[in-house]
Amino acid sequence: MRADFLIVGQGLAGTLLAWECERAGFSFAIADAGHATASSGVAAGIINPITGRRLVKSWAIDGRLPVARAAYRELEAALGVPLWREMRVRRIFSDERDRRVLADKRARGELGVFAGPATEEGDGFWIERAARVDLPALLAAARERWRAMGRLRTGVTDVAAELAQHDLVIDCTGVAGARGGAFGFVPWEYSKGETLTLAVDGLAPEVILNRGHWVLPVSPGVAWIGATHRPGAIDAVPTAAARDALEASARTLLAGRAFAVTGQMVGVRVNLLDKHPVVGRHPAMTRLGLLNGLGSKGALHAPALARQWVNHLTEGVPFDAEVDVARFFGCPASQALSP
Ligand SMILES: Cc1cc2nc3c(=O)[nH]c(=O)nc-3n(C[C@H](O)[C@H](O)[C@H](O)COP(=O)(O)OP(=O)(O)OC[C@H]3O[C@@H](n4cnc5c(N)ncnc54)[C@H](O)[C@@H]3O)c2cc1C
Repeated sequence: MRADFLIVGQGLAGTLLAWECERAGFSFAIADAGHATASSGVAAGIINPITGRRLVKSWAIDGRLPVARAAYRELEAALGVPLWREMRVRRIFSDERDRRVLADKRARGELGVFAGPATEEGDGFWIERAARVDLPALLAAARERWRAMGRLRTGVTDVAAELAQHDLVIDCTGVAGARGGAFGFVPWEYSKGETLTLAVDGLAPEVILNRGHWVLPVSPGVAWIGATHRPGAIDAVPTAAARDALEASARTLLAGRAFAVTGQMVGVRVNLLDKHPVVGRHPAMTRLGLLNGLGSKGALHAPALARQWVNHLTEGVPFDAEVDVARFFGCPASQALSP
């Protein structure tokens, strides 16, 4: 059966978009080549409201966190799998500079409700209202749902060629679309990331440990530690350097607790220089759209961006300027394309 809309890519972006299309009652299909290279398959799914050495409150989190919580809760109910876990982050200071940054930001009120009390040990502070979304479980259960409904197509799809068959094709192919698709004028950036799976007992299930890297308890006796950042690298080869760095962090964060490394995973993040994701329509082929550039915060942003697409399609609402692909229409490569 012909579908009006085709979504290409069933990573986090395509899954949330397809879900919003299903809720809106659209005629859609979703095509995916398998999750072997999907960064959503290796992502920890952490939503951390305060990140980095400079303790920056995540962009747009006040508005996007409630949207994300509601969307994943709905998906849990529809798919019948647990996906959303409320967490706290135990942010441990690296040095005196960290303490000063926190004190300054608290004094200026920059961190809002997300900066909690000092840890009992006095070695850091609690970040409140964090969460973890189980992305591998989400991808698998959603895939099964759309397969059963006859909406899923498997295999590699030529995104632009599908315009002959559908009113609208939306590219959600992550790194593949950024490197080779029709949106080549967008100034894409890449960052390879690696994580380790650890066998370790006794971690509190609702606490993420964080100092440079993070430790996320994923199930009893199992935790992940990550993630490394190698800007510019796009290969999916696990490295000894990343393993050494993550093992060193595990020794510090787990404070003497015994652990064993049982796995290593690799993925590539797609970013834009302004660190905002990107949605919208191609300047010349306006029936071609995209949702990409989720960077290291896809779990937070994907639900709201998928909602923007549906509002755009049902009511003609323009995309927010901060995420609209139109912000790159001044780039030299796009001027040649503009009608
Ligand atoms: C190590 C690591 C840790 C991370 N941790 C977190 C975290 O804790 N929290 C967080 O929010 N984010 C995290 N991220 C980022 C997160 O992975 C991304 O933001 C998000 O998953 C990107 O999703 P996507 O759907 O855009 O791309 P992808 O997940 O890469 O999905 C793209 C899909 O498109 C398919 N595809 C590609 N080309 C075609 C084609 N031609 N035809 C058909 N199908 C195609 C692929 O097979 C794939 O399934 C992490 C990333 C890495 C690498």
